[in-house]
Amino acid sequence: MSVEPGRTCAPDKALKQQRWDRLIASKQVVSTFAVMLENGELVSLHLTQAQAEGLECLTCKRQCETGQGAFRPVGHIPSVGSIFECVACLDGAR
Ligand SMILES: [Zn+2]
Repeated sequence: MSVEPGRTCAPDKALKQQRWDRLIASKQVVSTFAVMLENGELVSLHLTQAQAEGLECLTCKRQCETGQGAFRPVGHIPSVGSIFECVACLDGAR
């Protein structure tokens, strides 16, 4: 019996991606959240559940990646968690 390293984790990864996609898809309900921004300002934003839980970029809704897609915290929602923007959006805002 020969083991093929490098192939063994592929099905698991695909399954994880599928579960993740389903999780994100189930969190697309938009609600209004009171958001405490990093500068201490309290604002009211319409966000999806995924954005509110820090799973998606606040602006472009991409999921956390590396490089330009890396997330930076921009504030938090009391009792929910931190919210993020990706580096690309933060750079574009400046
Ligand atoms: Zn973004």
